[in-house]
Amino acid sequence: MAIEPTELIWYDGKLVPWREATVHVLAHSLHYGSAVFEGMRCYSTHLGPRVFRLDAHVRRLFDSARIYRMEIPFSPARIEDACREVVAKNRVEACYLRPIVFRGYGGVGMYPGPEVPIQVSIAALRWGGHLGSEAQTKGVEVCISSWRRVAPDTIPALAKCAANYASSIQIVMEAKRDGYDAAIALDHQGLVSEGAGENVFVVRDGVVRTPSTGSSILAGITRDSVMWLLRDAGYEVREEAIPREALYGADEIFYVGTAAEITPVRSVDRVPIGGGVRGPLTKALQARFFGIFTGETPDKHGWLG
Ligand code: PMP
Repeated sequence: MAIEPTELIWYDGKLVPWREATVHVLAHSLHYGSAVFEGMRCYSTHLGPRVFRLDAHVRRLFDSARIYRMEIPFSPARIEDACREVVAKNRVEACYLRPIVFRGYGGVGMYPGPEVPIQVSIAALRWGGHLGSEAQTKGVEVCISSWRRVAPDTIPALAKCAANYASSIQIVMEAKRDGYDAAIALDHQGLVSEGAGENVFVVRDGVVRTPSTGSSILAGITRDSVMWLLRDAGYEVREEAIPREALYGADEIFYVGTAAEITPVRSVDRVPIGGGVRGPLTKALQARFFGIFTGETPDKHGWLG
């Protein structure tokens, strides 16, 4: 997906023209993956443009930085304000926001000493459907990846670190090469983990299950939102270990994530899920989720800030 430039990027505390937001080729993060980032969406809502769960995303950014002992030189409130500023100044109502905290140029060794600065940028991008515009109604075809997610005590899965995406890139490239839209990866034990950039939910007999944070997942903000929406609607939602074979007999499976929003999975390894079409729970959940932005679903958790 090609990038469509907007006008300004927030870079280390000020707005700079898009083309001037650059880094040196010897930046630490370019060589060692030492960057933590977020992906969030600004929706055009009945209240005007609103970044969905901005506070939760900024909190996760600071949590990721803490795991990697990166001291962000701005407060969470300043980063939240900067995100709103980038949206307003670029006059992009609905957009995708990409804040990144990275170790910049200063030293060539792996150990990030004080000579390596911690830098922050926030860009707003025009971006439509991540898995394709029809994906949310027709669903996607996925396989089980031959690549496992990172094991606990290797690379921390709960940190949204650039380095983790070495794994996601392998997963998505393999899936596309083999003719699938996307993939679900297993954890180091062979249990269901997550997609390359999405969490996974599995429905059977009205009970909704999703892998717990013990299965090498990123604790998605959409995953959390969906659990609230389902529980608010009276569904039983369980966070638990899910064996691969439980996927094939599911009534419904769907992906969730900032980019994917709520995307039905219509087959796994070419085995149709449900009738091979979007299931009723997935459809109702999408309506509740998108209803937040039109006002049809009450924003009872304050997700629009
Ligand atoms: N897992 C991974 C690996 C991801 O990159 C993402 C996208 N951030 C998700 C899950 C979904 O998280 P969220 O709902 O916070 O976007």
